[in-house]
Amino acid sequence: MKIIHLFLLITTLISIESKRTKTKVLILGAGASGISAAKSLSNANMQDYIIIDAQSFIGGRVQHEAFGNSKVELGANWIYGKGNNPIHRMATQHGLKTTPNDKNNVAFFDDFGLMKNQEKGINTSNEFESIKVKLVDYADSRMKRQQVDLSSRSALSLLGWKPNTPLKAAIEYFNIDWEFSEPAEMCSLDYATGTVDSITGTYPFGNEFVVDERGFNHILKEELRTFLHLDDDRLMLNTLVTEVIYNDQNVTVITSNGHVIEAEYAICTFSLGVLQSDLVKFNPIFPEWKRESLLSFHMTTYTKIFLQFKKKFWGNWQFALYANNVTQHGGYYTVWQNLNAPGYLFKPAATGDNILMVTTTDTESQRIERMTNSQVGNEIMRVLQKMFPLIYVEPPIDILIPRWHQHPLFRGSYSNWPIGALKKHHLNMRAPLENRLWFAGEAMSAEYYGFLHGAWLEGKSVANSVLDCITTKCPFYEKYEFITGCDSNFNSPPRFFGQFSP
Ligand SMILES: Cc1cc2nc3c(=O)[nH]c(=O)nc-3n(C[C@H](O)[C@H](O)[C@H](O)COP(=O)(O)OP(=O)(O)OC[C@H]3O[C@@H](n4cnc5c(N)ncnc54)[C@H](O)[C@@H]3O)c2cc1C
Repeated sequence: MKIIHLFLLITTLISIESKRTKTKVLILGAGASGISAAKSLSNANMQDYIIIDAQSFIGGRVQHEAFGNSKVELGANWIYGKGNNPIHRMATQHGLKTTPNDKNNVAFFDDFGLMKNQEKGINTSNEFESIKVKLVDYADSRMKRQQVDLSSRSALSLLGWKPNTPLKAAIEYFNIDWEFSEPAEMCSLDYATGTVDSITGTYPFGNEFVVDERGFNHILKEELRTFLHLDDDRLMLNTLVTEVIYNDQNVTVITSNGHVIEAEYAICTFSLGVLQSDLVKFNPIFPEWKRESLLSFHMTTYTKIFLQFKKKFWGNWQFALYANNVTQHGGYYTVWQNLNAPGYLFKPAATGDNILMVTTTDTESQRIERMTNSQVGNEIMRVLQKMFPLIYVEPPIDILIPRWHQHPLFRGSYSNWPIGALKKHHLNMRAPLENRLWFAGEAMSAEYYGFLHGAWLEGKSVANSVLDCITTKCPFYEKYEFITGCDSNFNSPPRFFGQFSP
């Protein structure tokens, strides 16, 4: 028996040893960026590529799971802006079901239930909206004078905003933490909260919430199908990359099952969290200027906790804010979303899907990820009982908590531009190595980092650079061996983060 096992092991090892593949362009990751890169290559008639991903499906951080009788999006859920937003275009083209998202449709709660004075909540929200406009002007004038970047907290204080009541803290959380997934102390004024599009929207006309049973990644699957069959050998799913060896001639990738893939060029779309970790070995180790920039940016954690209840005991609001003293010190189950709001749930409430979603961010998310679902559920129940003091709130039938920070293929949810990171850091983060190993993905987009459309546009842009390398000459990429001083680039294009109704 033992001899048979040994024989099987040897034959497996031999077959693994002999598994070598060559390709022109290797795309690491089948998320939005990887698919977009492949599409651009394909459009240019460059068919010699391979896409590789450890997951069993495409879409990366755009993924869903069954919950109750419905499907809920664990990652990306909103299409931020319409106009020329490529994600909006795809959603329209592939008939994705979405519903308008209205951040003004919000109910205010505190430790004594629904606040009697809802008007106060609306007025304080309006006050914060006008502070956001001022933040943009302030950042603009500071950048023109070449002043150093500030934390958004310092800027808010200088402009006279202080979150010194639970309500103000909750409203700030909804506008800063819930968007950037980090508190104002962390966010750059110049590149995060103080950008003009946080007010107007780079892609205008409002945001949509995806409520399609096929999942948000349906549009990425459909895009892929326009140029590649899901069973094409060039799409290698369930394949974990463990090592990437690069030099000025080629890039060689080794997978966990011993497959060796040699490529003339590689486009790495792994998340910033993965690049900051040691989960994939890059050989040689990245130069210090690259590591400095990768480590200067932040990979945040944004956690959507789903709760299914036997009965719906809440109103028809889209959002609810829970303002209490703990909220004031970092956000404690502050932002609630009603998946039964009119037009929201994928299946009618009659199917028994009474679902609330509460979001946590940053260190709260990391704390929650270390707890069991039932421990988190108990904390949430205490909050809900305070929000609804007149009824007995029965525990949820089910609870779903994605753990993005712990996930070895992501190590977080999306990137944020922190105070202290300069434009030059971002250029270094994005710069290719040896003109062979290229970097794309959400974090590499200076304009739209954090967003799905940022990932898509970066994949396209980097694939075009690689096509230039193949056909003529690699384009020039700025990079800085030593970064000194502060940025003087005040003409950088705006980016969008707010969720405003048309
Ligand atoms: C909770 C959450 C909420 C979000 N909400 C929104 C939103 O509402 N709107 C919005 O626009 N954006 C949102 N985003 C951000 C958006 O999802 C991302 O910007 C986008 O999906 C990133 O795409 P990408 O291709 O750059 O990276 P990814 O999707 O991370 O793709 C990279 C791929 O690399 C693979 N990979 C990693 N390591 C390895 C390895 N060692 N071997 C093989 N494969 C590997 C991964 O499996 C993954 O598929 C959200 C993200 C999260 C997590």
